[in-house]
Amino acid sequence: VRSRAIADKSRSGRSTIGPFSLSDWISTLVVVQDLVVDAVRRRQPDLIQLAQRLVRVPSVLGAEEPAQRIVAEVLAALGFTVERISVPDGIAETDVLAGYPPLRYEGRTNVAARLRGTAGDKSLHLSGHIDVVPSDDADCWTYDPWAATLANGRLHGRGAGDMKGGLAAYLIAVAAFLEACPSFRGEILFSSVIEEECTGNGMKAVLDAGYDGDATLIGEPSGLRLQHAGVGVIWAQLQARSSGAHPAFATGESAPFRLLNALNSLRRLEATLNQRQHDADRLFFNAFDRPFRLNIGRLGGGTWPSSEPVAVSAGVRLGFGLSLSPRQAQASLLAAVNDAAAGVDVTFEGFRAPAYVHSPDDFLAQELRSVHSSIHGEEPETRVLAGTTDARSVPGPCLCYGPIAGGLHAVDEWVDVASLIATAEAVALTLKRWLT
Ligand SMILES: [Zn+2]
Repeated sequence: VRSRAIADKSRSGRSTIGPFSLSDWISTLVVVQDLVVDAVRRRQPDLIQLAQRLVRVPSVLGAEEPAQRIVAEVLAALGFTVERISVPDGIAETDVLAGYPPLRYEGRTNVAARLRGTAGDKSLHLSGHIDVVPSDDADCWTYDPWAATLANGRLHGRGAGDMKGGLAAYLIAVAAFLEACPSFRGEILFSSVIEEECTGNGMKAVLDAGYDGDATLIGEPSGLRLQHAGVGVIWAQLQARSSGAHPAFATGESAPFRLLNALNSLRRLEATLNQRQHDADRLFFNAFDRPFRLNIGRLGGGTWPSSEPVAVSAGVRLGFGLSLSPRQAQASLLAAVNDAAAGVDVTFEGFRAPAYVHSPDDFLAQELRSVHSSIHGEEPETRVLAGTTDARSVPGPCLCYGPIAGGLHAVDEWVDVASLIATAEAVALTLKRWLT
């Protein structure tokens, strides 16, 4: 109930930062609150500051380390044993579901940490990804994507929603929990992983290193919903070449038209995938008309309107359901390109991610549902995503639960500040129920 009060205030334009108003203090006195929730609320300024610090470091692919140092620092200050876990360069050869590494892993690490309580062997793994997608369209943004501007109850910036806000909320949740319950039982595992946005190999390496708790929560921006499923995703690079010629002397179909034929064929494949409606994919079709999307994320080539390009290329992403493995999805994509366009090369890169479903009713979901209800006065919705997350690699109970956000992978990304606090409250309470 209280976090809704915060949300309402932020909507009515009153600041959610800074010292509490008198009415906040009165409501704190009137409503007997959990010490853990109280400890979270007192850290609201810290939470905003930490999220801002993280957003101001542009941790795009290959540049994750400065942001990882901040996370490692915070965890060490909380008393965690922190280690850096690198990803083996050959991971794609040993694991058919690993992504194809876009870069070498030297000097690029995951942060993973443990904190043991007094006794007991229960554990909860809290996780988030530090990498953000690029923002080469800064001119289109209302606020500088790396400035982490606070306005109208929102924190703006690349990665604010996806997902440095959630990561900061989880760290603050741990800090609040440790203050309120210093002699907890069991173990808290925490990880901040790389490459969630292109391979998922960061999470895989962290899990392989033994950071698999009895249950895992990931702070993706689920809108305070229990997000338990995601579609499969593969990436491919299509390339067509020609010798390059003046159009007056050119012969045959030029490279761009061959590439267009290939892309149109992929559109037909996309339509087929969405028409088949296998029973296994019922949950995706219940949530979306067209859950399995083709995206052309990169398209380019050529230098001059009156010259045929020597090479043109497209970077594509294709979604698919539980009825296909990534390997089968790759085969379908390859066949679609080969059938429609001669001389278009396909290379697979990035994701080889299977569709996944975690139970929305297991003990973790029940715990989180009850915690969410105690904060908000109503049960959270469950949600499936027409995209993927690192949750797919976690073998045990795992849910994404995080703030309300918008503009993900787009211009003007933001995260709702009140929902960051609500996320931290829910995670801190889950830690308390689970580990005390
Ligand atoms: Zn994300």
